[in-house]
Amino acid sequence: MSRNTKNPEEHCSFCGRPASQTGLLLSGLNGYICEDCARQAGQIFKEQNPSAQPAPAPADNEPIPTPAEICAFLDQYVIGQDTAKRVLAVAVYNHYKRLRYNAAHHDNNDVEIEKSNIVMVGETGTGKTLLARTIARLLKVPFCIADATTLTEAGYVGDDVENVLVRLLQAADYDVPSCERGIVFIDEIDKIARKSENTSITRDVSGEGVQQALLKLLEGALVSVPPEGGRKHPEQKLITINTRNILFICGGAFDGIERSIAARLNTNVIGFKGDETRATLDRDNMLQYVQPMDLKKFGLIPELVGRFPMLTALQPLDRDALRRILTEPKNALVKQYQELFHMDDVTLLFDPETLDLIVDNAVRYHLGARGLRSIMESIMTDYMFDLPTLPKGSTFTVTPDMARQKLNL
Ligand code: ADP
Repeated sequence: MSRNTKNPEEHCSFCGRPASQTGLLLSGLNGYICEDCARQAGQIFKEQNPSAQPAPAPADNEPIPTPAEICAFLDQYVIGQDTAKRVLAVAVYNHYKRLRYNAAHHDNNDVEIEKSNIVMVGETGTGKTLLARTIARLLKVPFCIADATTLTEAGYVGDDVENVLVRLLQAADYDVPSCERGIVFIDEIDKIARKSENTSITRDVSGEGVQQALLKLLEGALVSVPPEGGRKHPEQKLITINTRNILFICGGAFDGIERSIAARLNTNVIGFKGDETRATLDRDNMLQYVQPMDLKKFGLIPELVGRFPMLTALQPLDRDALRRILTEPKNALVKQYQELFHMDDVTLLFDPETLDLIVDNAVRYHLGARGLRSIMESIMTDYMFDLPTLPKGSTFTVTPDMARQKLNL
């Protein structure tokens, strides 16, 4: 194929347009192809054979966001959880660096920077998914959220573990190299734990099977996935994805894990520093002392635990955090309702005491941050029903008495 010095007599052999109407016209043995047709052919080729694309693009020229910048971004949406934010920020920062490094050094095998998959342990409603979603807004790599509870071992009813990658592939617009640089958040990872650490009689085969399958993805393997998801079947065309560079972040509540943490800590301190250490333990928040061995005790297989070098715990949300969640994040609940009212040209205000009352109820019923929304909804539904009848330009203030009445207190 050669570059043709445009002879106006020649035509593109595909679309038939003369050289005068095309851009560059490339000549072959018996014909020509114009720029548009060549591009289209490239696209068709790419769709038909995605794995034949070049390796992941090497270092982009864009600067990598620093961990402090990532944390600052998370701060706009997520209240508290500073430790988890730092761990995530470093993980994402290193993920970008690894991608660049491995792309630049993929010929010589001096050092290969391995990935650091993360497990986030925290009570439900403390912000695990929110952290993952927020980080996704910032990322320049494909990102998807999968739910471990829907995963089953191949052959059982449910999703094959590989379908996690299908989601990522979809998020990457079926661009395989881009998918191979992505990040997957797997929620509720604790739900695939086997029910007992004793593997002999009581082992929960399905949970362990899913863990084994997941292990394969985490280890970095070539995995074939059906492009549309669902079960594989023999005639189907499969796409091969290399998971070596895909970062996995998992979240789970690990209900009851505090007991094994407490038991471990109690046993450990005896004979060492004794009561002195025990006294400094924060009994109300045992999760912060979580160690990989606790995940194992909970029922994750050791190989899987070993694939998550980073383990971080989320703090339970206290009164103060809940109060801040109502008003401070960029899309705080109060701001959302204010926007809804604003659309009807009404200014919505909340008495500070009303907000305290909402928080008190969320705390009383152990509803955490998730409860804030339902409490708010119970108070606001009737007012929103009447909202279109309020005078335009007026101000509507929700007082504690109004809130009490709606909450039947
Ligand atoms: P988890 O995944 O830990 O069960 P989520 O992240 O789904 O919890 O949190 C549920 C909701 O609670 C979120 O949509 C968010 O509105 C609110 N929320 C929870 N934790 C926080 C937090 N730390 N900061 C701000 N909002 C939060």
